[in-house]
Amino acid sequence: MAAKPPGAQTRDLDAVVYEVGMSLAGSLVLEEVLTTVVRRIAEAMDVWSCAIHDYDEERRTRTCAALWTREPTQEDIGWVGHVIDLNERPSCAAVIDTRRPVEAYVDDQAIDPDERATMERTGEKATLDVPLIYGDKVIGVLGVVETRRLRRFTDDDKELLLRLAQPAAIAIHNARMFRRQEERARRLTALLGSSRALTATVEQGEVLSTVASEAVAALAVPRSAILVFRPELDALVLETMCERGEHGSGTHDGLHTIHELGECPGERAILEGGVVVEEHLSDDALAADRRLALEAWGVDACLSVPLAFGGRPVGILRLGGFEQDRHFSDAELEFISGLGELAGVAINNARLFRSQREQSERLVGLFETSRRLASSFDAHDVVAHTVRELSALFGGSAAEVEVRLRNGEGQYVPSQIALAQDGEAVEGPVDFGQPGDLELRAVTEHVTVRGREDGGSALVVPLVVKEHAEGYVVVRTAKPREFAENETEVVQIIANQAAVALENAGLYGRIELLAITDGLTGLYNHRHFYERMHQECARALRYKLPLSLLMIDIDDFKKFNDEYGHPLGDQVLRDVAEMLQTNVRRGVDIPARYGGEEFVIILPYTAGSTAVGDRRRVPGPEGPTGPPPAGSGASVVGERIRRDIEEALFPGHGGRRSAHITVSVGVAGFSGQALSADELVRHADKALYAAKHKGKNRLEVSE
Ligand code: GH3
Ligand code: MG
Ligand code: MG
Repeated sequence: MAAKPPGAQTRDLDAVVYEVGMSLAGSLVLEEVLTTVVRRIAEAMDVWSCAIHDYDEERRTRTCAALWTREPTQEDIGWVGHVIDLNERPSCAAVIDTRRPVEAYVDDQAIDPDERATMERTGEKATLDVPLIYGDKVIGVLGVVETRRLRRFTDDDKELLLRLAQPAAIAIHNARMFRRQEERARRLTALLGSSRALTATVEQGEVLSTVASEAVAALAVPRSAILVFRPELDALVLETMCERGEHGSGTHDGLHTIHELGECPGERAILEGGVVVEEHLSDDALAADRRLALEAWGVDACLSVPLAFGGRPVGILRLGGFEQDRHFSDAELEFISGLGELAGVAINNARLFRSQREQSERLVGLFETSRRLASSFDAHDVVAHTVRELSALFGGSAAEVEVRLRNGEGQYVPSQIALAQDGEAVEGPVDFGQPGDLELRAVTEHVTVRGREDGGSALVVPLVVKEHAEGYVVVRTAKPREFAENETEVVQIIANQAAVALENAGLYGRIELLAITDGLTGLYNHRHFYERMHQECARALRYKLPLSLLMIDIDDFKKFNDEYGHPLGDQVLRDVAEMLQTNVRRGVDIPARYGGEEFVIILPYTAGSTAVGDRRRVPGPEGPTGPPPAGSGASVVGERIRRDIEEALFPGHGGRRSAHITVSVGVAGFSGQALSADELVRHADKALYAAKHKGKNRLEVSE
């Protein structure tokens, strides 16, 4: 047994876990998450390679999902996607079945002979695998391999890998959910495309008013109306009304009124009946709700056509105002049924269109949310952002979102109470009550719970950190409603991101982060930049990888300050910092504030002045799975940043976004010849100076 690490080393573990957690929390793209995980872990543990395998419980197989190795061979590249049948290789199953770390050494006489043969063949000298656990399920295996020497994995190594497996499992789970959402959005788009061919427009209002006015004209009745079924409200909404001689318009009273079907059994029978129904006030058997409805519409008789699509009701087309003894011929009824079918298709299309648009918006929102959560070091911020995002997702006032966190005594209390500093006054309820049954289930079983509560519905997602529910997020609606599967997934993704962010905020605390970040822009500071620069240079030199550095200086910033004032100048610095972050590969490139109005970006695995696409040929951390971003090479990245900034509007007079700024960029890189970190900085600085000298707002590459 290795001796317990001294305090300083434990803190290093924390730092590594924290860093990996941070870079993972920022991405929802599966390939990006996986390649970040394996690369960062291989670096952190100083091993030859690191891989992630997906575990398929049903087939009992594990499939290599990502592999990072210091010098990838063809065999390594082909390994991704490779499937191992666990029934055939029991040694690969141990980590999944025991849920414990499993190590193997090539010189260990006790290991399975087949296993040793494999290790000898592949040159593996020591391996360590840990399970990736999400919730209570093993979702994969995280493993590291050493080929250079017979390394013995210490207890610290195992603890570190186990701890790294936690944020990794959450990130992988989130990315998988996100991918499902994306696929659903794609399917919807395709579906929409084919059904759109049926009717020319997806604008529901347009089609409905056409149908309503055609009905009035063709059957020579005074009035028509269309009610659309909204399953989530269990209600019909009056969407269109038409009177003979005029087209349906929004001027009618009662348009968009919601008619709850719970209170209208007669109406429900028509909607679900599937046949055209004629009703007369003079009929004693008329349902009470229908009688009231006819009276309210001011008609003695009406004809209702239930509209359906794919066997599901979508609404009712209604004609009224004709004489009580009016007789509808078979041809008329046939026509009106056909019109009803068209309306059914149109309503369904419009609904698909809406849902597709909402999905796309939601995906964009999710990216943004996860980025914000990942970059927040403040627990209050994380909670506020989570609440804001979820409220928006459920249409603002339609739902109430609450975050509760576990306090010192193990009670789940409102977050503002849990996060209050000693002696800080807390606004809001002091008597916060006990969690209900749904909440208790969510936090004890660590599962998402949907159910009815206080006349409405609730969705509870636990915030699970290191096998403890540190809190939960609850979405409550005043009225009963179903939470759809994809809505639930979105809430889970946000809750998971929030849990990681809260964990990060707590693990390090503000003070320690302040030590490496710049207070104004949130980028890494000068000191940390140099630290990373030395690390990256050493690694690049050792493994003969390319590395580039961009140095970016705002042009004539003194003048900007003089004209617009220092506070707006500060805002420009923040905006530029954000633009830098969005323009680089997250978790790979390292932007920092070098000083004043100067920024730097370290671009690992990137050649300095290569043409577009050249980076594809460079063996990078993406390995075989991650596609390099379109347009590569440090100067391409730098040029894109220069152009984006030139085109952007910054706060100017009156705080309005009206001011323009430009930047000059210096690029330096190496891909073979030895350069120290300081030399590389000097070269970039010289290139920057040249860019200034040649007239600013341009990019120069160091010779
Ligand atoms: P050049 O195009 O040659 O780079 O001209 P410049 O005016 O940008 O460069 P110079 O080095 O002469 O001045 C830099 C200015 O940047 C001076 C200072 O007012 C401004 N600056 C530096 N740090 C900050 C900051 O934190 N906030 C604000 N608002 N301005 C800053
Ligand atoms: Mg300067
Ligand atoms: Mg300047």
